[in-house]
Amino acid sequence: MKRRIFIQKSGAAGLALSVMPIACTEPAPKLDAEVLILGGGLSGLYLAYLLDKAGKDYLVLEGSNRIGGRMFSREDIGREVGGRGIGDKYTEVMKLVKEFNTEMIDITDYMRSPTAIYVEGKLHAKWPDPATNPAYLQFTAFGKSPQLTALNQWYQKPELDEKYSELLKRNGLTEAQIDLANISANYNDIRETSAINAYHSSAFRKFNGSERVLNFKGGSKHFIKAIADSLKNPVLTNKMVNTIEDNENGVVVSCIDGSKYRAKKVVSTMPFTTLRDVKMNTSFNSNQKKAIQKLDYTDITQIHLQHTEPFWEQDEMPVDIWTDTPLERIMNMSSSPTEKELACWVNGIGTAFFDKMSEKEVAEYTIKKINEIRPSSVGKIEYLGQQNWGKYPFNKGAYVEFGVGQAAWFEDMIKPAGNMHFAGEHAARESRGMEAAAESANRVFKELIS
Ligand SMILES: Cc1cc2nc3c(=O)[nH]c(=O)nc-3n(C[C@H](O)[C@H](O)[C@H](O)COP(=O)(O)OP(=O)(O)OC[C@H]3O[C@@H](n4cnc5c(N)ncnc54)[C@H](O)[C@@H]3O)c2cc1C
Repeated sequence: MKRRIFIQKSGAAGLALSVMPIACTEPAPKLDAEVLILGGGLSGLYLAYLLDKAGKDYLVLEGSNRIGGRMFSREDIGREVGGRGIGDKYTEVMKLVKEFNTEMIDITDYMRSPTAIYVEGKLHAKWPDPATNPAYLQFTAFGKSPQLTALNQWYQKPELDEKYSELLKRNGLTEAQIDLANISANYNDIRETSAINAYHSSAFRKFNGSERVLNFKGGSKHFIKAIADSLKNPVLTNKMVNTIEDNENGVVVSCIDGSKYRAKKVVSTMPFTTLRDVKMNTSFNSNQKKAIQKLDYTDITQIHLQHTEPFWEQDEMPVDIWTDTPLERIMNMSSSPTEKELACWVNGIGTAFFDKMSEKEVAEYTIKKINEIRPSSVGKIEYLGQQNWGKYPFNKGAYVEFGVGQAAWFEDMIKPAGNMHFAGEHAARESRGMEAAAESANRVFKELIS
């Protein structure tokens, strides 16, 4: 029997078994796999790949109708809306890139292109004093603090765990400058988030040592597909998990379509924002409980646009603009020096402004505002679509962000609990982003085979 058919049949059998009590004296029901992996993003796929290589049996259950998770090439608007840039020294991800002969594009040089600044209604092609450039205030001030000396120190230094704004103030920023820095900082609110996140990012940049930034040619979908196609077992999509029952025989995972899957072990790669909606009887440690319920994730809304004419050639201003308006940053998001894929990138508390609007209102507001900021764009830009990661039901946030006091939960929150293990971007000791997703998968692979 083909694997796919077996899975479908065992799913139906699972339905029939759903009326039986889980802990019973009958012989243990047949397992669907040794390991169930919840989530078909990079960490879930990489773990499946490692288990495949080790000859282990697994099944990947993905809640949405596609694989890739936060690596997302949106076909409807022809844009990458999630993770896309990797460093040349991302060891784990680069292993996969090489294994699957993935074509990459080096975007380092044109990532360094200049940014115009629009503040208080005036557009500046160049900010006169680098020390007060609103786009860099945060980095200039943070750089004055002593930095970490090892990659995994960030969660082991409670003395550094304070509101990020407090650190920035001590390092010379005024309240008004904190407001400006808050616009482009990749956090919900620098007046609330912990300085630990900045320490971790900066340590990762320093110790990872990447010098070049690479994008996936043609989009991340090719990379994701190559990993998925290499797997012996197909990823099951539309399997939104809503219950995990952990008992002496292993685990039973139920999905909202009524299907049930049994295995010895389960690995959640789901962000804690969605895991907290799952009914579970697992005995978690107290920090794990807190983290699953409360861990913060950054809200990001991107508003994707296309241009009909290169309006920047007319006014000779840089394509990228940092603004103090609700649009925050207008960025060139393309992976090629000739293309200019424009998007507004709105972080954290700023996303609430657009959450209140209909999509039509978002489109109208955006075009009108850009025209106001940059008259040369009038009649030359069109709205493509928005990606609201804070409201996207399968993630409810773009990436993990530790609030003050939350990093102290980290070491306990990634420990196995009962038959459950934790992978995913939020569960990496050292890396950030895609490399974090891959690092966590590697750690869980070792836990499973030890
Ligand atoms: C806008 C944006 C830009 C980014 N840019 C970069 C970048 O340039 N470089 C970089 O390195 N990283 C970047 N990242 C981060 C990177 O994309 C992520 O760290 C990585 O893709 C996360 O992989 P993951 O497997 O941990 O999680 P995910 O990809 O989120 O996978 C988890 C999966 O679980 C599924 N799921 C959720 N709930 C359920 C459920 N109840 N049942 C079943 N399945 C469920 C989800 O659908 C998802 O597919 C970016 C992320 C975003 C959002």
